[in-house]
Amino acid sequence: MKAAVYRGPRNIKVAEVPEPRVSGRQVLVKFKAGSICGTDLHFYRGEWRWMKRGRIIGHDACGVRADNGERVVMVPLVYCGRCYYCLRGLSTYCMRGKFMGLTSDGFFAESIAMRPRNLFSVPDGVSDEEAAVVEPVALALHVMDALKPNVGDWATIIGQGAIGLLMTQIARMKGCRVIAIDLLDYRLRLAEKYGAEFCINAAEEDAVKRVREITRRGSDVVVEAAGSEQTVQQTPFLVRKAGKVALVGESKGYLNLEDADEAVFFTTYISPVEYPLAVQLLAEKRVDVKGLVTHRFSLANFEQALRTADNPAEKPLKVVVTA
Ligand SMILES: [Zn+2]
Ligand SMILES: [Zn+2]
Repeated sequence: MKAAVYRGPRNIKVAEVPEPRVSGRQVLVKFKAGSICGTDLHFYRGEWRWMKRGRIIGHDACGVRADNGERVVMVPLVYCGRCYYCLRGLSTYCMRGKFMGLTSDGFFAESIAMRPRNLFSVPDGVSDEEAAVVEPVALALHVMDALKPNVGDWATIIGQGAIGLLMTQIARMKGCRVIAIDLLDYRLRLAEKYGAEFCINAAEEDAVKRVREITRRGSDVVVEAAGSEQTVQQTPFLVRKAGKVALVGESKGYLNLEDADEAVFFTTYISPVEYPLAVQLLAEKRVDVKGLVTHRFSLANFEQALRTADNPAEKPLKVVVTA
């Protein structure tokens, strides 16, 4: 079968690989559609080099169960269910866990062996393309729940890529007033469409100064979804005293906390717990991912899909790959 295989930086190729071995309680899932994530691009660009060569990449996708024909979205975390973290509902941090597409083979393959507990049914109203973009919805739900904003709170979202735009949508559902920051106007226009009250182009104005002018005290909650050390380092100056900051795009960077008294900072990257709710919100049309899909390619043209996702001139948000 065909699969997208990591062979090193700038070297992810569609290759012929053996069919997966289906063991124990696993079932075979036939790939339908998946999306390229910023994480995949970190590996493609050689920014993260710890992935094993020969690994099949991809961790956000849907498919069809070979045993019963059910359309399903796949959760990439393999967890034991019994360790310290699993027992506390934190299976993301399972001590015996694996992350498919990173530390074990992932989803960009014609067939995938999955445990049924990692599969959630996709309702008829949700297209394959929408079900290919569930991971960032689940992440946005997890992050906004963790931030626990009050109605009317200021939520500043740095970076309006696919993840940032979903944070904007969920923050609005939570009753927040959203300030969206990005360097690119086409992304800020979408942020406005999704309900951001203020859009700041950080290439044109001082984002920290502007946020402090708007909020007067600093933002109640802040999400870093741009993925750069520079934006991580801005967060203590954006948040109000005793506010909360989620670092979602990047975790490295020096935090100068002198004015951020009692503010809470945390990182988070994926949450399997929110997948069913994410799919439900897509079915109810309460969260939109269709507007985030900018490009479509077949699995056979995966390399072109990656190059497009990595090329700012193409104005990519979500690049979807189909069977
Ligand atoms: Zn991802
Ligand atoms: Zn565990």
